Amino acid sequence: MSALRVGITATAVALLTACMSDTPEPDPTPAPRPTATASSTEPASPSPDAPAFEVARVSADIRYLAREVGPRHGTSDAYREAADWVAERFTELGYTVSRQRVDVPAGTSWGIRVPAGRTPNVIASPSGFDDAAGHRLVGAHLDTVPQAPGAEDNASGVAVMLELARVYAGSDRPVRFIAFTSEEPRGPGDNLHHFGSRAYVNRLDAAQRDAMRAMVSLDRVGVRGRAVPLCTGGLGTLRVRGQLAAAGREADVPTSVCNNNRASDHWSFERNDLPAARLGSLPYAAYHSARDLPRVVDDRQLERVGAIMTAWLGLDG
Ligand SMILES: [Zn+2]
Repeated sequence: MSALRVGITATAVALLTACMSDTPEPDPTPAPRPTATASSTEPASPSPDAPAFEVARVSADIRYLAREVGPRHGTSDAYREAADWVAERFTELGYTVSRQRVDVPAGTSWGIRVPAGRTPNVIASPSGFDDAAGHRLVGAHLDTVPQAPGAEDNASGVAVMLELARVYAGSDRPVRFIAFTSEEPRGPGDNLHHFGSRAYVNRLDAAQRDAMRAMVSLDRVGVRGRAVPLCTGGLGTLRVRGQLAAAGREADVPTSVCNNNRASDHWSFERNDLPAARLGSLPYAAYHSARDLPRVVDDRQLERVGAIMTAWLGLDG
């Protein structure tokens, strides 16, 4: 066992102990960092050679999706183009890529008619990955409402996910990354949105469900704010949210708690009794509009999100 791994393990034990109780209320003030010791100052990275999280890469991917691909509702040609691009990125990083095809009905999405169609989730698994053994999921929806280029909603989440996939490529972490299709609503109610993540959950067998330790939905993660919101839907366990809050303290990033948030793919997991949380959701003026362009996204906020997620993925368990 390397000195680094010993350090990570010791830090993880401390963090897991710290997050057994959840912060009940929003707390934008970061807790003081733990007293510096040899173990707590070790970076939570997958291996000594792991690349650092680079926000410039995240910004470039946001620009690509929002400017080059543009609006991409789940059954559009632009969505398929975006899915091909994400699949290629995962493949280049050495992941095994699969597409899970989802039949989505016609409907009205944010006031605009959209057609029915078959549209893929894009799933990246590290080599040797076994979804019947303990693992975590990091997901982000790749679609947008029809009128929005979706820089914040949700190129930001997709781009952070791609950068995490780059950082963790080649590590032994059992983490699967998923670009979900058709998160955006096609009508009212729970059953007319989150199509991609619901299909993923519905196709899990008992062993795969048991093996799923945590799911984090990265959704609207880049607009500037005082803190990074950590959300749950008010039904399931708060364990994943607590882990993310502990990771925020480890990374010295302020977080806030948001309750009863059912407006992202974590809800598909939470309502099916699987441990999940959402990272992101700060309000912004350009939401679901043609003005959701790269300028609404803030590099510093993306940096904070990267720091929380790399700390969380560095935890054992
Ligand atoms: Zn979204």
